[in-house]
Amino acid sequence: MATFGNLSDRLAETFKHLRTKGKLSASDVDGTVREIRRALLDADVSLDVVKQFTSTVRERALGDEVNKALNPAQQVVQIVNEELVAILGGQQRRLQFAKTAPTVIMLAGLQGAGKTTLAGKLAKHLVKEGHTPLLVASDLQRPNAVNQLQVVGSQAGVPVYAPEPGNGVGDPVKVAKDGVEQARRAQHDVVIIDTAGRLGVDAEMMKQAANIRKATNPDEVLFVIDAMIGQDAVATAKAFQEGVDFTGVVLSKLDGDARGGAALSVASVTGRPIIFASTGEGLDDFEPFHPDRMASRILD
Ligand code: GDP
Repeated sequence: MATFGNLSDRLAETFKHLRTKGKLSASDVDGTVREIRRALLDADVSLDVVKQFTSTVRERALGDEVNKALNPAQQVVQIVNEELVAILGGQQRRLQFAKTAPTVIMLAGLQGAGKTTLAGKLAKHLVKEGHTPLLVASDLQRPNAVNQLQVVGSQAGVPVYAPEPGNGVGDPVKVAKDGVEQARRAQHDVVIIDTAGRLGVDAEMMKQAANIRKATNPDEVLFVIDAMIGQDAVATAKAFQEGVDFTGVVLSKLDGDARGGAALSVASVTGRPIIFASTGEGLDDFEPFHPDRMASRILD
């Protein structure tokens, strides 16, 4: 993944040095841990996450599992892999469906994070899995958002519930509620609610998102975060966690060439799992997130 290209190269270089050693001395371990620490920080992984990560890796690398290993260097790489999987959330977490349809999925995140695009991607993915989603246009902030949702909806072959044209700006909370009602009436088994974001964290936007959450009682609230926003990712994620208490994370724009490490910190900092990854502008550039596969890609 482009976003982690540089991090991958740096870690590969570190492990190459390590592999030239037989038994590992404490100073070999410390040197390696120091290089890993620098590589993670340079990739924008948050300091707290890096500290915790490197101290666990160091402790394990100095312990018996490495000391007794046939190939100590390989064992350290394995430890780094396992700890990377852990900060990415451990086990894969699948989307949760309601026992009684419709399952309500609300999207939240800053403007430009990729919510509307994700709504289309998720709808298409769910159709492939045999679901009958309805998209709901509750982003009434951005003039073109409703139209954009209609475009991705038609690309995905999924209907869109939107306020009637000419109905003025409308009330996003009412649209969301009516959308869920519409899904129930028309027997859609999943509702995906697109909501408004702002360029930065904003009290009014957060209140609106919280009100939509209250009014629709979603089974999932997915926080969409642009992997390219760098160090702001952690503060933004914390603000949304406090504001809307999201249940899962979607990393978007993992195809970009900026450093994506901050986004890697989000699961660890919020304790919420990453459920999907978005890797491009097309509706098929999307995949369920697997912590172990992501860790392997980074360490490849
Ligand atoms: P919203 O404001 O959160 O609804 O964000 P949009 O869905 O409108 O996305 C903002 C911009 O990012 C659009 O130009 C999208 O085409 C683009 N975009 C969304 N997801 C991705 C992605 O995974 N990769 C890339 N490269 N662009 C994306």
